[in-house]
Amino acid sequence: MTRGLYVVATPIGNLGDITLRALEVLRQVDRVAAEDTRVTGRMLSGLGISKPMLSIREHNERKGADKIIERIRSGEAVAYVSDAGTPAISDPGSRLVEAVRMAGLGVVSIPGASAATAALSVSGLSQGAWYFAGFLPPRQKARREVIASLKNLGASLVFYEAPHRIRETLADLQCMLGSERRIFIARELTKQFEEAALMRLSETEAWLNGNPYREKGEFVLVVEGATEERSGLAEAETILRTLAGELPASQAARLAAKITGRKKSDLYALLVNEHD
Ligand code: SAM
Repeated sequence: MTRGLYVVATPIGNLGDITLRALEVLRQVDRVAAEDTRVTGRMLSGLGISKPMLSIREHNERKGADKIIERIRSGEAVAYVSDAGTPAISDPGSRLVEAVRMAGLGVVSIPGASAATAALSVSGLSQGAWYFAGFLPPRQKARREVIASLKNLGASLVFYEAPHRIRETLADLQCMLGSERRIFIARELTKQFEEAALMRLSETEAWLNGNPYREKGEFVLVVEGATEERSGLAEAETILRTLAGELPASQAARLAAKITGRKKSDLYALLVNEHD
């Protein structure tokens, strides 16, 4: 096998999603470098493969890269895999690839599963451009700022989220992008309790409350991109909600209608439907 670094995508849940080429490469390389040798060791043994392994974690990626470069220089073929999915996609791997390239050595892509593309492909919201935002910041202020910066982007937005933050992230998406935009929530893709649903941002809280398991597992969120009409509506909703914080609903709707030129009844409906 030609010496170099082989960046190998692995399944995101279902072992059957390993590709034929990934299997061949993992069988043939001299060594497998992994984000977590225990996780990858389990996957390899599930596939009936036994290989010398090397741990390369996020905080030692530079150092680990030097070791791998040495091995490649000595003629080895080394595979790199992250815990699940495609390396370097919200996962370590990018610094290693950069270092190997800078050393003038070969890097080969062995593509396969990634939660982002898997979710996008079944969302029904992938017309044209899409923007991969990865994980949002854990603190609300920073998270809201990032969402605000994406508000007018005419591309579907793809986020990763952890179970303990899913509720607050969905609430912030609604607060910053308005209630009307559609969102596709993909939970536990390719796994036993896989679940997915397309809804408006206003419906996410009810969806989460629909079943205690819905706040568990791994999530990808795909949010419809901005259109001029939607941006205008979201703007009107921000004004409406600011006024509704100080005034009765009907008065807030009347003033917001005057400011934005929208129908009072539409704006009023946005406020009262929440309490239905
Ligand atoms: N490199 C991976 C990829 O290519 O998708 C992503 C790794 S990132 C550390 C892990 C996050 O990806 C999870 O928190 C979740 O947001 C998303 N994810 C991974 N597997 C998933 C799955 N089976 N279903 C839904 N989301 C998943």
